[in-house]
Order: sequence, then C-alpha cells, then structure tokens
Amino acid sequence: MKNRNDTICTKAELRHRAELQLAEIAEHKSTQSQDRLLHELQVHQIELEMQNEALREAAVSAEQALEHYAELFDFAPIAYFTLVNDGSIQQTNFNGEQLLGLERSKIIGRQFAHFVADDHRPLFNRFLKDVFTHDGKQRCEIIFASSEKNHWLAIDAIADSKGVTCLVAMVDISTHKRNEQELQLAATVYLAIEEAIMVSDNNNQVIAINPAFTKLTGYSSAEAVGQPTSLLKSSRQDEAFFQSIWQSLNQTGQWQGEIWNRRKNGEEFLARLSISTVYGQDGQPIRRVGMSSDITEQRKSEEIIRRQANIDPLTGLPNRRLFLDRLQRAINKSHRGHQKLALMFLDLDHFKDINDTLGHDMGDRLLQETTQRLSSCIRETDTLARPGGDEFTLIMGELNELNSIERVAQAMLKAMTKPFQLKNERCYVSVSIGIALYPDDADNLEGLLKKADQAMYAAKNLGRSRFCYFTPAMQQAAENRLWLTNDLRHALADRQIWVAYQPIVELATGEIRKAEALVRWQHPIRGLINPDEFIPIAEETGLITEIGTWVFHQVAEQVSSWRMHHHAQFQISINKSPAQFHNNSDKMLDWFEHLKRLDLPGGCIAVEITEGLLLDGSRTVSDKLLAFKDAGMQTSLDDFGTGYSSLSYLKKYHIDFLKIDRDFVSNLRTGSTDMALCEAIIQMAHVLGMKVIAEGVETEEQLALLLKAGCDYGQGYLFSKPVTAKEFEKLLTQI
Ligand code: C2E
Ligand code: MG
Ligand code: MG
Repeated sequence: MKNRNDTICTKAELRHRAELQLAEIAEHKSTQSQDRLLHELQVHQIELEMQNEALREAAVSAEQALEHYAELFDFAPIAYFTLVNDGSIQQTNFNGEQLLGLERSKIIGRQFAHFVADDHRPLFNRFLKDVFTHDGKQRCEIIFASSEKNHWLAIDAIADSKGVTCLVAMVDISTHKRNEQELQLAATVYLAIEEAIMVSDNNNQVIAINPAFTKLTGYSSAEAVGQPTSLLKSSRQDEAFFQSIWQSLNQTGQWQGEIWNRRKNGEEFLARLSISTVYGQDGQPIRRVGMSSDITEQRKSEEIIRRQANIDPLTGLPNRRLFLDRLQRAINKSHRGHQKLALMFLDLDHFKDINDTLGHDMGDRLLQETTQRLSSCIRETDTLARPGGDEFTLIMGELNELNSIERVAQAMLKAMTKPFQLKNERCYVSVSIGIALYPDDADNLEGLLKKADQAMYAAKNLGRSRFCYFTPAMQQAAENRLWLTNDLRHALADRQIWVAYQPIVELATGEIRKAEALVRWQHPIRGLINPDEFIPIAEETGLITEIGTWVFHQVAEQVSSWRMHHHAQFQISINKSPAQFHNNSDKMLDWFEHLKRLDLPGGCIAVEITEGLLLDGSRTVSDKLLAFKDAGMQTSLDDFGTGYSSLSYLKKYHIDFLKIDRDFVSNLRTGSTDMALCEAIIQMAHVLGMKVIAEGVETEEQLALLLKAGCDYGQGYLFSKPVTAKEFEKLLTQI
C-alpha cells in the first residue's frame, strides 16, 4: 500500500516524462535519429500506459482485500485488540466487544489493564512492556475482571515495527484451566491418598494402581497392570459372594463391603472395598475404580473390645451382659417359633469354702475346669455363660422334647461328681441347678431369671447336687422319670419285666389266629407300669434294645409252643420302636438265627412299626425292613389314622397289615365320616394287598360295623385285655 504512490503514475507525470525525452531528442539535432527516437518514444508511452492500467487494477483489488480483511478482523472468532504502547485500546473486533461487554465506542481509548483482575494487573503491565521491548510474539495467561469466577484468558501480542501499537489476540481458556486444575487435584489425591486404588477396564484388567495399592498388596504397578482384577482374590469367599458383587455392579454400578484379599506374599487381609463404575457415552461401563483399605487390625481390635465387653476373661464364657442379650434373643426366637426354652441357673455348692481355704488361684482353676466339664455336656446350640462368681447359666433354646433338659442337667451333675485335682489337693465340688421354662413359668426375661433362681435355691434346699424345676408338677414328673430310669436299669435282671398277650381275632371266623405281645413292668413298689410310661425312658437310655431282644426271645418261645399246641400258623406281633431301628447294636441277624435254632419260620413273627418310621425314609430303616421281609417276617403298620395316614408310601415299603388306631375305631358310628373313612381305608388296603386289623374294639356295635366294612381282624377289650401267657392259653382253648 505504501508503494502504491511510488509505482502508479498520474497522466501529468507521464506527460512530464515524455517532454523530458523530447527535449533530449532535440538536443541530438539529427533527423534520422529524431525519427527513431520518436518511434521509441511512442512505444515507451504505450508501455507506460499499459503499466499504468495494470497498476490501477491492482490498486482496486488491494482496496477490496483491505475491506475483506477488515471484515475478517471484525468477525474473527477470537477477540482482537490493537493496543497503543501506553496500554490504551485503539481498535477491537466484535469478539473483543463481547469479551469486555461494552460497545466499541466505550472501549476505544480506555486502558486495557482496567479490564484485568486486580491481582493480575501487574502481570499484564509487565507483559505489555515485554511486547514492546522484545521481538516477536509474546504470550501470557491472566485472569480477567469479570463476574464469572476465574475467567482465564490466554493473550498473544505482537508489536508493530515502529513500536507504537501492538496487535493482541485473546482466547477464553477458563474451561481448559479448570480441567487442568481438577486433573492436577485428582492426580495429587490419587498419589497421596492412603487408600489403595485400582482402576480396571471393561475386560476387568487392571490398567492403573496408585502407590498406596502397592504398599497394601505388595504388587508394583508393572506387576499389577495387565492382570485380571481377581489378582487379589483369596479363598475365603465363595462364588456366591462374588456373584452378588457383580450383580450389584451390573445393577447400580456400585458395590461396597468387606472382602478378604490376598497380598503378593500370600498373606490374607480383610479390606473395606468400594467399587464404582465409569460409563462411556454409549452408557456402557468403561472403567471400574476400586478403593480399598486394610481393616484387619481394626477388626481385631474391635473384636478384642467386644470380647472384653462380653466375655468373661477367666473362663472365656459369655459374661452377664452377653448372657442377658443371648437370653433375650432366645426368648424372641422361641416366641416366633412357638417353641419352649429352658433356662438353667447353676451354682457351685460350697465354692466359697474352697476359695477361702485353697486361695483364689485355686478357685479360678476350679472355675475353669468346671467350665470345661459343663461345656462337654451341652448341645451345640446351647449357651453356657458365667454371669459372675460361682454362678453359671445355660440357655437351651428350640426345645422339641423336654427330656433333653433333664439329660443335660443329669450329665452336668454327673460331670461334677469326679474329683477336682487342684495342685496337691483333691476336692469335690457339686452343683445345684434350677430350671425355669419359657413360656410356661414366665413369658419375659426378668421373670424367667427370677424363676430359675428360685428353682436353684430349691435345689440347694433339697440337699444340693441336684436339679430342680420351678414348676412343682414338672419337678414331680422329673423326679419320677429319674426314679424310673434308675430302676429300669435293674428291672430286666430282677425279672420285673414280663410280656402280656392280647388276642387278634379273625373277624370272619371269630378265631384267635394272632396275638400282640405287650411288655409290662411289674415294679416292686409302684406296681404295674404301662409301656407308655417306661418305653420312652428305655428309648432315651438305650435300654430299649436290651428289652426288645428280651421280649423277642420270650415271644419266640411262646409262639413255638402255641404253634405246636394250638394252631400251626399262629403268629405273634412285636412292637418295635424307631429307636431300635436306628440303633446299630440292635442285631437282627441274631433274631433270625434264634428263630432257626427254634426251628421256626420267619412268618411266626410280625413286627409292628409306626408311620413316623416310614416317613423318616432313611436307608437303615428300609434296609432293616427288607431284611425282615427276606427272613419271612411280616410287617404291621401300627396306629394307622393318627399320624400322616398317607397310603402312598405303603406301596414303597412292603407292609402286610394295617392296624387302624383305636381312637378311630372308638368313633365308628353308622353313617359317620369316620365310618366312611374306615371303609375307604379297608378297601384301599385290600387293593394294595394288605390285611386290616382294627385296634381297640370294645363294643359289639363296632365289631358289626367293622365286619360290614370288610375288616379282616379285630383286637380289643371286647375280645380280651392283654393277659399273661397262661391266661391267653385259656382263651385259646375256650374257642
Ligand atoms: P400299641 O402297639 O398300639 O398297643 C396297643 C395298646 O392298646 C396296648 O396298650 C393295649 O393294652 C391297648 N388296648 C388294646 N385293646 C384296647 C381296647 O379295647 N381299649 C383300650 N382303651 N386300649 C386297648 P399298652 O399295652 O399300654 O401299650 C402301649 C404301647 O406301648 C403300645 O401301643 C406300643 O406302642 C408300646 N409297646 C408295648 N409293648 C412294647 C414292646 O415290647 N416294645 C416296644 N417298643 N413298644 C411296646
Ligand atoms: Mg402295637
Ligand atoms: Mg396301636
């Protein structure tokens, strides 16, 4: 542009140049040379005119370009300013106006520094000075004075050659700055945080770890990166546990919890772990970030604190606090399950004497030894505690049968009868036990504690080394059972046990073809004791096997005699309780051998079993039943109609007789539901190839109804009560 005036000539200038050349020609004064000169002059003039035209066109397009660039400058997407070297604004574009938020007229002439944040103003002034004193482009980043917090600008500036003005370009870098700061912060946290961080990709491969991870696990970054995330997996948790983690991650992207991990050196540690998921734009997980810390020590100290608060340090048993907590829980559980619960209070007899004479050390030893002895008597589910001093408590929850209470109490009393060896001293210490039952004696914690305590004092008053129930009736029953148990042990040897026989009559003919053997106990003081009373005790004590075998031997002899003298097909049935089936010392083979010795076929005996045994479904039971069948013995299903009365399993086992329970028979009336049911049972049994025996037939009416219903056999007081063998023989001869 500057050269434009130098190169483009006006017409006047051209004419002036031509006149100069003509004057030069006149000086030559030669015609020939004048013509040649004139010609050259004309050519030159034409050239000059052409040149002039080209220059004019160039001037026009330069003008257009200038306008074009001015527009570009104005509409440029970044803010441009021209600043004078005193810092005032000479020129700006639209973006500049927008940046400063003012019209151009209000910007021009103002100091640019005015728009810079106060604390960045010195920086800007220094920068402006650099622009005019240094060659080339200068750059700086400053914070702009604006309502927006931390509004960062990047400024590029270059001065003109004369050093009067400079062109300034500005870009808003606030977002970039923020990201940069956040990244910096994240990186600092990542490196400095005490929690171990593991980042994995969507293939569950480790892609980054932090120094804390290395510190915790022993794996360096080089060792961990590229490994599967299961790198730390220990064997302490099963697949179901990991599946639940994945389920949570897939559903919520998060998981938090405690996990046992393994360090590089193989050591296992408990970690508190939280996993979160980073999702890509398509909503698919791209990263998982796991943060964990070792809580093994923390858990150990928590456990120590918990133990100190709840455990008696001397015996390791729950202390009073934990005992009360457990008792409340047990009460709640029993309440929900409608079950009974027993609370026992145990107090060592004359413990104080030992403490006083042998010293506290020995007293402590005694308490420890007592703990061991008592613990060996209880069930796994029971809670033995030491609330204090020489007092122990036992919570027995989920009681299905009350007999287990006495069994445990007896066992504990017995365990205490052995002498205690305390250094050189041998001493005897017994225990008094008080028992209270929930909900029978009390339906709350306080009440139960009180009743158990009272029962314990009752035991002490009765002479120590015994147990006592809170309820007198329970106490009476317990004493009875205790008494029976002791006496039953000698009953067989003392010949107090004998067998009664009750006829089983073939209804169609009225003939006695069978008998049921029913055991009796003739007690020297208490008189005749029925099996309902002593069989459960015999089962509990295991004496049932011995009694059962004895009954079998009696029956075998009896049946041999009756077969010989009365009826060749005579059969006697023997009751066999489930306890005998489950007891391995019950030797069936001996039974079969015994029959062989007496030259008797298996069919002379029928074994009566109950439904419960079949429902049990165990292998031992089915094997034993099969063995009976193989030996030719028959099987009767006793008390049918009182239990599950399911005919379906009758097919599964080989049953020969169905004995309809006497409760059922006693309700038989013409047209009653029981009658209809009875008929149905009989028909069904016949279809399945079984014969039916009705128990407890007491009246002619019942007999008539049973006959009508097609019942095969009858047993009951109508025909005869169970009688001695001698009396039974009379019955046989009467017919
Ligand atoms: P069970 O096998 O159902 O025996 C029938 C019971 O009904 C017998 O009672 C019998 O005396 C009684 N009874 C018979 N006819 C009538 C009647 O017309 N009316 C009434 N009201 N009762 C009648 P028992 O002898 O007291 O036997 C009770 C239970 O003891 C037996 O029930 C049986 O389960 C068991 N038992 C008896 N002896 C033995 C044995 O040697 N071993 C085993 N394991 N259990 C036995
Ligand atoms: Mg029976
Ligand atoms: Mg029966």
